[in-house]
Amino acid sequence: MRKKADVVIIGGGIAGVCTALWLARDGVSTILCEKGEIGKEQSGRNWGWCWSFGRDPRELELRLMSLDLWRSMNETIGRDTGFRLSGIATLARNEADMTRLLAAFADAQATGQPVDMLTPAECAALTPGATRQWTGGLISRNDGRAEPKLAAPAIAEAAVDSGAEILRHCTVLDIETSGGAISGVQTSQGRIDCKAVVIAAGAWSTKLCRMIGVRMPQLIVNETVFRTAPLSGLPELTLRAGLYAIRKRLDGGYTVGGGGRIRAELTPDSFRFLSDFLPALRAHGHWIRLQPTGHSLNEWRNIFKMHPEFRLLDPAPDAPLTNHVLEALAQDFPAFRDTAVEERWAGSIDVTPDAIPVVSKLAVAGAHLITGFSGHGFGMGPGAGKLMAALVRNDTPPVDPAPMDIVRLADRSKLRVGPL
Ligand SMILES: Cc1cc2nc3c(=O)[nH]c(=O)nc-3n(C[C@H](O)[C@H](O)[C@H](O)COP(=O)(O)OP(=O)(O)OC[C@H]3O[C@@H](n4cnc5c(N)ncnc54)[C@H](O)[C@@H]3O)c2cc1C
Repeated sequence: MRKKADVVIIGGGIAGVCTALWLARDGVSTILCEKGEIGKEQSGRNWGWCWSFGRDPRELELRLMSLDLWRSMNETIGRDTGFRLSGIATLARNEADMTRLLAAFADAQATGQPVDMLTPAECAALTPGATRQWTGGLISRNDGRAEPKLAAPAIAEAAVDSGAEILRHCTVLDIETSGGAISGVQTSQGRIDCKAVVIAAGAWSTKLCRMIGVRMPQLIVNETVFRTAPLSGLPELTLRAGLYAIRKRLDGGYTVGGGGRIRAELTPDSFRFLSDFLPALRAHGHWIRLQPTGHSLNEWRNIFKMHPEFRLLDPAPDAPLTNHVLEALAQDFPAFRDTAVEERWAGSIDVTPDAIPVVSKLAVAGAHLITGFSGHGFGMGPGAGKLMAALVRNDTPPVDPAPMDIVRLADRSKLRVGPL
């Protein structure tokens, strides 16, 4: 193992590998440490939506830049991430849905988000196989879908082509400082000397921040997804309607999510950060269920340190929820009624108190943090990585970094909670 680099990135999800790609392309000597395999936590388990619409306007610049990067990503890296420009739509099943869509459309127009309304006839043309008469819809035509299982590994390979080193099964156990600045990291494969670290550890980031005395309020919620066998004659469009959200896969099946319910892990941090999350609980608490799990028990045992033995966030899927979602989907698209569910899984999502990410320098010289994507970091990964690389190099940032700076989380009274 090389023992020295300018930058050590901790975590091989989409945020870490995109940061590695852009840094390596700029000629910065970079080592990425991943405790397991690349993209096996959130970045390999998500819906695969690369979405510019429907989130907090403070993220808009970053999301639009990310979409631009996604559209050329396969060409940029010379590999297939599964990205396809499919458009993403929300469809109204009734007048109540339509009222919400019209309000979302007005918000989108006010904040400059590129979306269009769809007539019932346009919705019907975009949804082969649907028996539902749609009331209308909202579409973001420049958005797309990618394959979570392909994307982070493909981008990591491209980072290696550009000179980055990627260490798999390499857990960062401690971050070292000297004279108030980063001096190295201790890993399960030995020490690496470096002047800068990028913490890109998803749901583990709070723990790593604690190693250098940085308070990062972040909690975990678990969401369930499933995939079907290949089906033909159904939408290419990525869409959500009522309870369900579907995305066509490269293998011809569909990844299906939704259900209107997420489960919050009860960990020591749930109590530590309770006051930070009270506004978010008020805004989004109606669809959160508390879940004490095996992982939480581990958390109770391992509060303060990273452990050298491999641990993966692999929560159990909520099977009754998937049945409920499938039933709702089959009511609108009968072809789903008889299809086999090939796999169910869940992922642990890292959320911040205001539901927007942190892409920021930290108070310790040389320390950086890219985390807390609150359920929408797959689509934002390429742009967030580009912003992170610019912050590490002290270059002019490609978008305004202020909304993503960690300092905003320090004053709880000023928190503005975004949509989940
Ligand atoms: C079910 C589900 C559906 C979602 N759907 C979407 C969607 O459609 N669109 C969208 O944009 N987003 C979606 N998301 C959110 C998205 O997946 C995440 O925001 C994004 O993948 C976060 O990427 P990350 O790199 O920050 O974290 P992760 O992908 O979680 O990566 C963090 C990595 O850090 C590693 N790590 C942790 N600690 C250490 C250590 N000490 N040493 C070394 N390595 C370490 C972990 O092993 C892990 O691989 C979804 C998430 C889930 C779970």
